[in-house]
Amino acid sequence: MGQTKIILSEREMPTQWYNIVADLPFPPPPVLHPMTKQPVGPDDLAPLFPMALIQQEVSTERYIDIPEEVQEIYKLWRPTPLIRARRLEKMLDTPAHIYYKYEGVSPPGSHKPNTAVAQAYYNKVEGTKRLTTETGAGQWGSALAMACRFFDIECKVYMVKVSYHQKPYRRVLMETWGATVIPSPSEETQAGRRILEQDPESPGSLGIAISEAVEEAATHEDVKYSLGSVLNHVLMHQTIIGLEALKQMEAAGEYPDVVIGCVGGGSNFAGLAFPFVREKLVNDRQTRIIAVEPTACPSLTRGIYAYDFGDTAQMTPLVKMHTLGHDFVPAGIHAGGLRYHGMAPLVSLLFEHGLIEARAYGQVKCFEAAVQFAQAEGIIPAPETAHAVRAAVDEAIAAREAGEARVILFNFSGHGFFDLSAYDAYLRGELVDYEYPMEKIREALERLPKVG
Ligand SMILES: *Cc1c(COP(=O)(O)O)cnc(C)c1O
Repeated sequence: MGQTKIILSEREMPTQWYNIVADLPFPPPPVLHPMTKQPVGPDDLAPLFPMALIQQEVSTERYIDIPEEVQEIYKLWRPTPLIRARRLEKMLDTPAHIYYKYEGVSPPGSHKPNTAVAQAYYNKVEGTKRLTTETGAGQWGSALAMACRFFDIECKVYMVKVSYHQKPYRRVLMETWGATVIPSPSEETQAGRRILEQDPESPGSLGIAISEAVEEAATHEDVKYSLGSVLNHVLMHQTIIGLEALKQMEAAGEYPDVVIGCVGGGSNFAGLAFPFVREKLVNDRQTRIIAVEPTACPSLTRGIYAYDFGDTAQMTPLVKMHTLGHDFVPAGIHAGGLRYHGMAPLVSLLFEHGLIEARAYGQVKCFEAAVQFAQAEGIIPAPETAHAVRAAVDEAIAAREAGEARVILFNFSGHGFFDLSAYDAYLRGELVDYEYPMEKIREALERLPKVG
């Protein structure tokens, strides 16, 4: 029997990130200014981001060096293990081999510090005193809180109000790492006050919280903004996942037929998948690459490919992406990290060109697979990760039915130890699926910005 756990040494950790733009046969559409609708230049973004990150955002270099200070911190938990889910294979009675890349070993428990640490580092170098950001369930906020603490920067997190009240544990994580956490919409910003005037009981949304965090950064000299997904540089920082996985699959003596990740804004999926997309583009590998989203927020499978704002208050630049409309507020499913109206422009672009596939699942089926996984492998998946687990299980069942020795690789984006109330609801039979809200999405799409 071969290895179960494939571990790289610290010396084998990649020292560069991979930028897929260098290998794309088609150029990414430009980012547009929200007022003029002309392509933005570096100066337009300078109030929000440090120049090093703006340069990465538009870079066409294939590989970008990971600064040594960032590598040092990565080594607290990286390289992460690649694990063969042998007990799950047995439980499913499948000839498929199932591998998962376990990102839950980071201190906040997800893939998000891979970019949080890099972003905090570049901000520190350029003199930023405080970073603002938004968070839904709290995974991104906690990753950035830890990263800011490591580089001695203040961190202020606008947390979607409904999560602030329902999920106190990640708030406590953020506060333990020294961050200030504000329930959004708040009275601290114009954007927040405007929403509260219309609806004092607003539960908030990621789009609203982004508006608040962006406004604070745009109106203060030494404050910058940090985004945990969607943008090119964020996806690039996450590629360390896939670069490690390529080496680990090679050490296992296999190559995946199927690569799977759940998608909210698209960063953990891209992090694992992009190095495998490169193998497809450059070395003609025939891998199927699948992005998995919730039926309650189906930006790839039901949204349209168009220019839209990243936030609700229409303050961010316009990016071309799969979107449900910037003011679409998805139902309160437990996978809070997947409740974003848009999809990363690079993931959207690959989908448009048929390089990746997408599918959507309701949350009940996802929890069913997550419980199966927990009972076979021990680890409890985050509700977001449960979507990837569902797809991996379905692929393994399909392989059994076809009598096919399929190799499946999925990104285990985070553990669910802070999401046990969701498991409680599932185990009590109280979890419901949300129908795809056709009507609401159509309304939101009518308010897309008019471009050219
Ligand atoms: C935030 C999060 C996601 C979704 O975000 P992406 O940018 O799409 O990766 C998925 N899984 C976990 C565990 C998360 O914390």
